[in-house]
Amino acid sequence: MGFSTDAIHAGQRPDPVTGAVITPVYLTTTYHQEELGVNKGYEYGRLHNLTREALEKNVAALEKGKYGIAFSSGLAAIQAFMGLVKSGDHVIVSNNVYGGTFRLFETIMTGYGVEFSWVDTAFPENIEHAIKSNTKIVYLETPTNPMLTLTDIEEVVKITRRQKLICVVDNTFMSPYFQNPLILGADAVIHSSTKYLNGHSDVLGGIVVTSSEKIHDRLRYMQKAAGSIPSPFDCWLTLRSTKTLAVRMKQHEINAFTVAKYLVSSKYVKRVYYPGLPDHPQHQLAKRQMSGFGGMVTAEFDSFEMVKSLLKRLRIFALAESLGGVESLVCHPASMTHASVPREVREKFGLTDSVLRFSVGIEDADDLVQDLDNAIK
Ligand SMILES: *Cc1c(COP(=O)(O)O)cnc(C)c1O
Repeated sequence: MGFSTDAIHAGQRPDPVTGAVITPVYLTTTYHQEELGVNKGYEYGRLHNLTREALEKNVAALEKGKYGIAFSSGLAAIQAFMGLVKSGDHVIVSNNVYGGTFRLFETIMTGYGVEFSWVDTAFPENIEHAIKSNTKIVYLETPTNPMLTLTDIEEVVKITRRQKLICVVDNTFMSPYFQNPLILGADAVIHSSTKYLNGHSDVLGGIVVTSSEKIHDRLRYMQKAAGSIPSPFDCWLTLRSTKTLAVRMKQHEINAFTVAKYLVSSKYVKRVYYPGLPDHPQHQLAKRQMSGFGGMVTAEFDSFEMVKSLLKRLRIFALAESLGGVESLVCHPASMTHASVPREVREKFGLTDSVLRFSVGIEDADDLVQDLDNAIK
C-alpha cells in the first residue's frame, strides 16, 4: 500500500461488535477472563490495550517495520530502548543529539554502568574508531537539531553489520514520510511522536519500530516491566493525527522552503541551514537518503540584539520549545534547547547566540514570510 493509504488504514479494522469505523478509545484497565487461564488475549491495561495496538501497528506500517512499541514520551521510548544494554556495555552516540537524550545517557545511564562515546557521526569513520569490545549500540539522530547535519545511515549500517552492533535512528525530525531508516538498513527507529507524528502540539508520546524479533521482544518486555505506556486517549489522538501525516508533511516542506528562501534573500541573515538548499553541505546525501527535506529551518542572524528584537516582534511564529506541530514555532537554541551545552562546544558546530530555529507550520506561507519580514524590518 502507499503511504497515505497505510496512514489512514493500517492497524485499524472496524470494531467487531458495532462496526465502528474508528478504533474506539478502550478505557479499561482490566479484562474479564472466562475461566482460569482462558481470556481473549487481553489481561491487564499495562500489557494490552487495543487503541495502543492500533497505533503501534499503524506507525510500524509507516516505518516499513514489523513491530511498533509505544511509550508515554519520546524519552520514555529512548530509555526503554536502552533496556537492550546492561552495566559494562558501551554505546556510540551522535554528538549532537536531542538535549534530553544527552541528559538521560550522561546523568542517568552512566550511573548504571553504561559507557557512552560521543562522536560526530557525519563522518562514519569516527564510529569505526570509537568501537570497543563491549560496544553494543550505535545511536544516530539525523538530521541533527538545530544545525540539520546529516549522517549517512547506509554507510553507518555497513559498519554496524560488520561489527554485529545494533544501529538505531531517532527519526523524529523527518517523520516516516520523508525518511525510513529501516529501509536503509537500521535495526530500529525511534520517534518522539510528540512532534510530527502527532503534529498538533497536544500529546506527548514515543514509539520504537523494528523488524527484529529480538529487539521487539526486549522492548515489549520493557513496556510491560517498566511501564511507561501512553494513555489510550493519547494513542487515539496520535492515531487520528497520523491519518493526515502525508498532507501535513508536504505542506510543512513547501512552507519551510518558502521561509528558507526568504531568509536566504534577507540581508540581515548570515547563513541559512536547510537540507533542501543546494548550498547545504550535505544536500546530495539529503536527496539520496530522504524523500524530502522536512519543515525545520535554522538561520544565523547578524547579532544577538537583532534576534532578541525579532523574537519580540513575531506575531505568528510563537517563541516556544518543541516542533513538528501545525502551528509555526521559533526557538532560540542557545538559551533554550541547548542551554546546557557549553558555549565553546556549541559554537564549534555553528550554534551561536544569533541562531534561531524555526519549526515551520502549515499556515499560509505568505503570512509566515510577511510575519518574518515585518519583524526583521
Ligand atoms: C522531543 C524530542 C525527543 C524527546 O521526546 P519527548 O516526547 O519530548 O520525550 C527525542 N528526540 C528528538 C529528536 C526530539 O525532538
